[in-house]
This record gives sequence, C-alpha cells and structure tokens, in this order.
Amino acid sequence: MLLIEEKYKLVAKALFHSGTCPRCVLRVCCVGFPTPYRLPYKELTEELQKYLEPLHGDTTDGDNAPPNKKAKLEGLDGCGSEVQNAVKKMQDTDATKAPKTCNLCLGILQNLCETEFVIKILHKVQSSEYEFKDFVVSVSLPAQLLVREHCAWLQAQEEMRKLDRVLEKGNIIQLKDAYKWILQPMIAKEFGVQAVSKSTFEVGVVFCHDETEEDSHFLATKCKDCFKPTKNKQSIFTRMAVIKALDKIRDDDFRLQFPWPPTSPKTLCDLVDIQCSHAPVFVAGRYNKYSRTLPQTPWVIEGERKMESSVEELITEQLMALFKADSFNFSSSGREDVDVRTLGRGRPFAVELLNPHKVEFTKQDMKDLQEKINRSDKIKVRDLQIVTREAISHMKEGEEEKTKCYSALLWTEKAILKEDLEILDNAKELEIVQKTPLRVLHRRPLAGRLRLIHTMRTEYVDEHHFRLYLKTQAGTYIKEFVHGDFGRTVPNIGSLMKTTADILELDVESVDVDWPPALDD
Ligand code: ZN
Repeated sequence: MLLIEEKYKLVAKALFHSGTCPRCVLRVCCVGFPTPYRLPYKELTEELQKYLEPLHGDTTDGDNAPPNKKAKLEGLDGCGSEVQNAVKKMQDTDATKAPKTCNLCLGILQNLCETEFVIKILHKVQSSEYEFKDFVVSVSLPAQLLVREHCAWLQAQEEMRKLDRVLEKGNIIQLKDAYKWILQPMIAKEFGVQAVSKSTFEVGVVFCHDETEEDSHFLATKCKDCFKPTKNKQSIFTRMAVIKALDKIRDDDFRLQFPWPPTSPKTLCDLVDIQCSHAPVFVAGRYNKYSRTLPQTPWVIEGERKMESSVEELITEQLMALFKADSFNFSSSGREDVDVRTLGRGRPFAVELLNPHKVEFTKQDMKDLQEKINRSDKIKVRDLQIVTREAISHMKEGEEEKTKCYSALLWTEKAILKEDLEILDNAKELEIVQKTPLRVLHRRPLAGRLRLIHTMRTEYVDEHHFRLYLKTQAGTYIKEFVHGDFGRTVPNIGSLMKTTADILELDVESVDVDWPPALDD
C-alpha cells in the first residue's frame, strides 16, 4: 500500500516522470506514514508504476525510460559499485536518458539507505567505542536540496490547481524525516537497540553534493540581504539563509531561474562524515581543600603556570578517565582563594562531562571513583553522584542569600583588650559596604555592595592575635572585612577595634547549600 491520496495522483505522475524517485514522490504527496517508505526500492517502484498506470503497466512518455526497464536498473541499487558503475554507463549511453539519481534527494532515499550504507554506519559507531542503550539519527543535508524541493512544491501546486486544490508546503514530508523512517529501523536491527527520538546518543550523518552546489546561488541576486557573510561559516549559502530567501522570492522569479524539473544529477550525494556524540553527563559532589597552596582552578598568568595543581584538576582527571569524555566544565558554589582551606562538609561542585563514551555506572562505581580522588592529601570529595542538568541550578540558586561560615586567625597592631573583642562578639546583623576589592578589580566591575555579617565570635590567642569565627552573607569578602582594603570596606575589623588589623589564615567552615544530597557512606 502506497497510501497516496487520490487527489495527489497528478502530482505523483508529474514528479515520477520527471526524474523524481518513488520515495520523494511519496514525500511530496504528503504520505505521512513510514511503512511505504520502508518497502524495498524495487517493490516500491513497481507499486508506484502500477498505481500510476494501472491499465498499461507501461508508459509512452517521450523522454523517460519505460518504467519496467527503469525498475530493473534501479533494482540493482544494493549491488557493488562496479555493477552500479556499469549500470550508470549503460544508462548514460541509453538514448532514452532514464533518470538515475533522484532530482530531489540526490540519491539519499535511493542508494544511501541500503544495507551496505547501514553497515558503514555500524562500523563507524563500533570503532568509536560508545556505550549506549538507544540512539537517534540526525541528518545534515546540503542546503541546495531546499531549492529543489521548493521547485517540486511549485510544480505540485500547479498540478493541484488543475483540481482546484492547494498543497501546503508544510505538509510535504521532510527528507530527513523520511530518511530516518527508513534508516533507523535498519540500524536498530543491526545494533540490537531501539531508536528513540530523545536518545542521548546521536549518530549524525553529514552529506554534501558538489555537483549541485550552485543551485542556490541565483537566490543571492534576488534576495541579497538574506545572504550575509557570517563568522565561522565557509559559505553564505547556509540552510537558514536559503530558507529565508525561498520564503521571500516570488514564485514567478523562482520559476524563471529554476524551472521544473531540476536536472538529474550525475553523481550521488557524498557522505562527508558519520559523527557520533553523547549528550553531556553531570557529576556533582562536595569538596574539602586542605592545602594553602592549591588554587581552585589552574592558575595561569600570561601563559605561565603558577601552581602545580588545582582542585579542579585533581577531581576532573579521574572523572575524565572513567567517563572517557572529550572535555569538561567545572563549576562550584563560590570559590576560595588559593591560601584558604575549605573544611566542614565542603563546597558543592559540579562537572559537566562533554561527549562521554561511557555513561552507565553503579553507586559502587561512583564510590570507587570517589576513593580514587581521595587518595590525594590535598583534597577530599564526598557525595559524589551523577545528577541531571536541571539539578545543577540548585547549586547556583540563591547563592547570594545563603550564609557561609568562616574561621580566621587575625593580627592587630595594638595590644588586644577584652572590650575590643566584646564589640565583635556583640555585633549582630552588622551591615557593611564593600567596594569591589582591589585584588579582583581586574576581573570584576567596580561596584559597591551591601553585605551582612550575621554573627561573630572571638577566641583570644595572645596580645596581638585572636581567632575570629564569622557567619556571613555569601559573597562577603572576608579578607577585606578584616583589613579594610584601604577604606574600601566600611566598617571593618580594624575600624571597629580602632587599630590596624590583618588576616593571617582563613578557612571556610561551611557552605550552606543543601545540594547535592548527602549520600550515606
Ligand atoms: Zn528522491
């Protein structure tokens, strides 16, 4: 069953006899069911002939091959290229000039969805060593196919007008959809896994066709402003630009420049590449940092490395190895300076692993991974787990409203009096104004921000030293709150104690973000 509606019969006839393949005929006739597209090519061709010429089984259309002969030739599609070449030669010298490669799909729905091609895909996927439980196919097509399709649509409209009917362009089945209908079940059978439209594993096939490359060029003279050079694009004739121009151009203008039927190409579409890719996987956890010489991220100044390692590297090296990813993005709930330790339950972080080849891990696998990371004496991680992309937002959410706890070792110029410490102990919800610190001005804009010091607690050490425990609004610059940053933070510990104060050591005691969820060990 071809499932072509009777009203499209004239369209089918016009296309089929002008060098359009039977599958493209189905598309332009708006056949929205996959089954007919999946019929073997030869069978489909014969069915279509029977449908179009039920009485004769033959045609007398002047410049086309008799359908029976055509079917015979095209039935050889699955054969090796030698046979195909021989057939091509035969066709080339054939006085009837039978159309070979479809003038709409350029062979994609003919030769490029046969078993041979599927095996090519299979080999590529196997050699790239991905782990996946389902897949989806994506197709990248040359832009000029849109011009040919537009041409077919205009012709189909002509035919429909004879019946006083219209054909909406949007009802034509897109080439890539028809292609996927045919290809995906074949691949699924070979892989032994299902094709799922929302799969995280994508097999992308990329086609180009040099021979018809210039099909779309006339559009640039008609719709100049649709074709503007864009960065990173080799050609101005992108799909987007062509779609825009086709939308704009008048039907008469188009027909004049690109009349029906489009030429039948001598060559098939070229397969440029088969690209496998897996959607990113996200891993989250919390880290402690015990070193005062370890930056959070690689510290490079003018191309020169300043510190040997970083929190980011110690964590991601192990992740990258396990997930076999191409690259990663590291993020965290705030950051600490290189000389600041992060203690307590640690700081939440998340790593986006891009194009991972391995993605299925048990809880035990993640525990083992955590242990591996924790062999370092500079950092420790906990609650290491795979999370969703959406969950990452919990980490950044309300970052400003959260509280953070610190402990610091302070020095004062004058000898410390009991009253000085009492001032600090008694301060509650102290409002301070911080101008962007001098030390971060090179990477942050100058701004004045209001911050809250919720509580402070002191511990006398000696005449010139004491420990300060602070609970503050997230985003408070603690070092500047202590020494005042040349009057850029007011009030500050120095101004409150009427002396010069400095900070010798700082530790983050807790980051109050309830994410990621704690795991029991
Ligand atoms: Zn076709």
